[in-house]
Amino acid sequence: MHLKKQAISLLTVISILGCGAISAFAKEWPVPASTVINQYFNGSDHKGLDIRASTKGIAGDKIVAAYDGKVVNAGYHQSKRAGGSYGWLVVIDHTIKGKEIQTWYAHLDKAPVVDKGDLVDEGDKIGVMGNSGDSKGVHLHFEMRKGSGFNFDNTPVDPLDYFTEYRPPNYLLPQSSNDIEIGDTLDSNSEDYTFYSMEEINAMTPEQRIELGIPLE
Ligand SMILES: [Zn+2]
Repeated sequence: MHLKKQAISLLTVISILGCGAISAFAKEWPVPASTVINQYFNGSDHKGLDIRASTKGIAGDKIVAAYDGKVVNAGYHQSKRAGGSYGWLVVIDHTIKGKEIQTWYAHLDKAPVVDKGDLVDEGDKIGVMGNSGDSKGVHLHFEMRKGSGFNFDNTPVDPLDYFTEYRPPNYLLPQSSNDIEIGDTLDSNSEDYTFYSMEEINAMTPEQRIELGIPLE
């Protein structure tokens, strides 16, 4: 798929032999069309980056897997706490330089195009940017966490520690103060939440989805 991918394939093979797990050195910014960051990771009440749409307010920007990995879960997340719903969500496990790390992609516009158990390559489309769940505008809430599995206790880390090239002053500043908006107030933990897997959702009638508050697409 990518020329650079071929270039790193030997390294990847060596790494797989070395640690017996999925591994990757290549990475891909999760929103190829936009590097505008609305809100940063702060470790406490915002555990990810909010990446704005390429055209403010317009859903549909492609979202891609940041690394090679395996989809841990894909579906719809609701929180009982106000402001805590991730909406359409994908979580992917990776092994980066021998360490377990995962990426979380929230507020997708529609049901993800990947499902639990899928193997993905970095750069593969997993869904499109949207505004589902508790979101104040079209954006991607992107988290990276240590560990594996669908677990809100996994420790969030700053994605810009991995995507250092997007740190100030290299990242693109919003063009005007009107463009600066807080995308969400997600600060998840192991509080009560409900997560509907794609398998469960696909088995529902439209009426059931409406009743549970799951968008029909
Ligand atoms: Zn966010």
